[in-house]
Amino acid sequence: MSLLNEITADLAALDTQRARRVRKIVASPQGSRVIVDGREMLHFGSNDYLGLANDPRLRAAAKRAIDRHGVGAGASHLVSGHFSPHAELEEALACFVGDFSERPRALLFSTGYMANLGVVTALLGRDDALFADKLNHACLNDAALLSRAQFIRYPHASVAALHERLTASRARRRLIATDAVFSMDGDIAPLPELLELALAHDAYLLVDDAHGFGVLGEGRGSVEHCLHCMRAASRSPAWERIIYMGTLGKAAGVAGAFVCAHETLIEWLVQKARTYIFTTASPPALAEALQESLAIIGGEAPRRERLLTNIARLRERLAAIVLPPSWRLLPSSSAIQPLVMGDNAATLAVSRALWERGIWVPAIRPPTVPAGSARLRITLSSAHDAADIDDLVAALAEVAAA
Ligand SMILES: *Cc1c(COP(=O)(O)O)cnc(C)c1O
Repeated sequence: MSLLNEITADLAALDTQRARRVRKIVASPQGSRVIVDGREMLHFGSNDYLGLANDPRLRAAAKRAIDRHGVGAGASHLVSGHFSPHAELEEALACFVGDFSERPRALLFSTGYMANLGVVTALLGRDDALFADKLNHACLNDAALLSRAQFIRYPHASVAALHERLTASRARRRLIATDAVFSMDGDIAPLPELLELALAHDAYLLVDDAHGFGVLGEGRGSVEHCLHCMRAASRSPAWERIIYMGTLGKAAGVAGAFVCAHETLIEWLVQKARTYIFTTASPPALAEALQESLAIIGGEAPRRERLLTNIARLRERLAAIVLPPSWRLLPSSSAIQPLVMGDNAATLAVSRALWERGIWVPAIRPPTVPAGSARLRITLSSAHDAADIDDLVAALAEVAAA
């Protein structure tokens, strides 16, 4: 059979499993209302948690920067594409999140995916081991495979299981990698305990804070949140063991990612992280928009408070209505509120029924989540208001009763 015949059959199999993905086309800016496939929809499916993706101040900063620096960077960072806005943004990020470290430095990457690949492959090789939570984001898993290190997964959030695996390991270097806020479940990793394990087993801790940066720890992210808890409990913060990865396309509203860690580690990444070296630098205008975003994140607590109010309202209202016993709202305190239905077809049917009511909540299916755990991934933003939340809950109640 030819390649084309084979994959035609594989595509048909995806249809049978209700697993084929189709892309909806958005014709407006991101927001709580979007024009999609020609219709205005109330939207609960983006990671734009603070409503910054279409903020006028960010738009203005990007436009000014385009007039100053043009559109493209024209080369990779190590050749001739490292512009002043990139350098300024790295400084600002190191100051903003690097509180935990005495000599922090930050390095910009074009995406979070590339940052994870770059960090893991620059630090680990065949004699080393990566310890990973079972529910980590796909790109941390891909990073492990690419590095050729031993890839040791532990059950979700199980500190005891990780302790056992670390104790048994004879690897030269050990890196523990975890989502800080799990992208499809919304729960938060036990960072203080992971950090203590790292310290006890001469390991490092890579924290992927794609969903915590901008939101948790006064916007400084999950590590700040965790270190604050540890200081309050008089536990040693061990900051030099932390490699912090934050993404800039979610709460920060733009695109890209950064790694913040000890200056020596960052210098090594500049020399060795292949996803940093062998790619064109991101447009400098994005770095300028991100400086504006950082100022807003640092300066505007009400956005985060509005998000928290929305999260509390959704959970409260959902608890007050009758949902089918097969639907399970996961225990999440983050902006990610998963309503697990299990079956692909059932989840798609609910997503479609909401769509017919003018509400867009994407159905997330395997392989993005484990088999049998298809779900509506409801994401909230500070751009939603109370009436938006109530509309969603009323629609869910209707669909549940139908
Ligand atoms: C979105 C995401 C990434 C990838 O970040 P991008 O900048 O979108 O490439 C990495 N890790 C987690 C946990 C994510 O949710």
